[in-house]
Amino acid sequence: MAESILNINSQIKHCKYCRLYETRLNAVCGEGIIPSKFMIIAQAPGRMEDQEGEILIGPSGKVFNSLLEQVQLKRKETYLTNLIKCFLPKCRKPKSDELITCNELYLEKEIELVKPEIIVTLGYEIYI
Ligand code: SF4
Repeated sequence: MAESILNINSQIKHCKYCRLYETRLNAVCGEGIIPSKFMIIAQAPGRMEDQEGEILIGPSGKVFNSLLEQVQLKRKETYLTNLIKCFLPKCRKPKSDELITCNELYLEKEIELVKPEIIVTLGYEIYI
């Protein structure tokens, strides 16, 4: 049986399964409707997201919101999440073990729950 999103988010908030927990302020959970036709996966929380514990806020959030407007989509019509739930020190690239751990523990479960028809990835590189 699939875990509930509340359970997954609670695990994310307290997660210490990779080294990134040592340097984060807040792990950042996904947000949005479940199930959702559109799932948007960003890379990792930025500084402001780390401070506030919210996804896609600050400068990157503004760019993202304007991109959504251009395709006539509202945030509340989507499910947003990150590949990596914790801030990467000095905005470095995630290491393979961090990606694998976070994806297996959380992202794969989110996809299972959200059941998206379309997944949009935001970021600049494929790591694995
Ligand atoms: S990046 Fe993911 S696996 Fe690592 S501590 Fe944060 S939530 Fe846990």
